[in-house]
Amino acid sequence: MRRLSAAFVSHPHPDHVLGLAAVAQAFPPDIVFSNGDAGEGESREVLASLRPVVLAPGDGWERAGVRFDVLGGAREQLASNDASLVLRVSYGATSFLFPGDVEQKGEAAAVAAGGLAADVIKMPHHGSRTSSTAPFVAAVHPRRAVASVGLGNRYGFPHAEALARWRQAGTLVLRTDDGAVRLLSDGRRVCRVSTAAALDPLAIWRERTQACGVRIEDVDLMEVAERLRRHIPEGEPPVGYLRGRSYFRDVLAHELGCSELEAEELVDTLEMNGYLKFIGDPSVRSQAESRWDIDPHVP
Ligand SMILES: [Zn+2]
Repeated sequence: MRRLSAAFVSHPHPDHVLGLAAVAQAFPPDIVFSNGDAGEGESREVLASLRPVVLAPGDGWERAGVRFDVLGGAREQLASNDASLVLRVSYGATSFLFPGDVEQKGEAAAVAAGGLAADVIKMPHHGSRTSSTAPFVAAVHPRRAVASVGLGNRYGFPHAEALARWRQAGTLVLRTDDGAVRLLSDGRRVCRVSTAAALDPLAIWRERTQACGVRIEDVDLMEVAERLRRHIPEGEPPVGYLRGRSYFRDVLAHELGCSELEAEELVDTLEMNGYLKFIGDPSVRSQAESRWDIDPHVP
């Protein structure tokens, strides 16, 4: 990464603003947006130095085909957290919702204003039990919900009650205290990739197949999983977590003509998105019941 096109400050609380000072020093954003709250103390100073452009509900912005729409209700009657920017980021058929730290009242205002449906949500207020109310969860109805939390934070975020409400709606819960979360959209679907991968492994493969004259429009993880399954004889792959993974890597490297490293990133991506499932305990070495399942029809 060399530059930042834009930064959005949901509301001027220290945990949402202070880190931006160092980021802006390393990569000055072309433009910074805020919700219009000037904040207090050090947060106020940092935010003012970034000369933010104020966004109100109904405003929008676009860059490189990616839409940023400000949702939520009128902020005048709302407290600081509840007045957070509720930002819906959409690209092609996919969308992400970033509702800052809204709690019950902010969520109710956003639900009343509408337009919240998204594939992915950053859980409001770090997965606090005072947020993620049932009507809000139903209105967003995402496939994945990410809790942005510090490891062992003193508030006990995310709260079990909030996680339960997302899971009851059939949403897959991810949390940043398990490690950084990286989700990519190609405009058609959202896919989780390893944070260690330098590039989107699927994009690498698309480029490669294009160079070989293969039709690329329909290349996706489902197809990669399908090819992997077709290529693996009865009784394979070998049992065991690591042996299975290196077996998949070798098959993919051979089948797709890519490097071992690229194939390994593809295996990561297939596993993170549920196309490859390990049945058993990854820490236990080869056992008869520790085998892999390949399912091209998961999501
Ligand atoms: Zn916060």
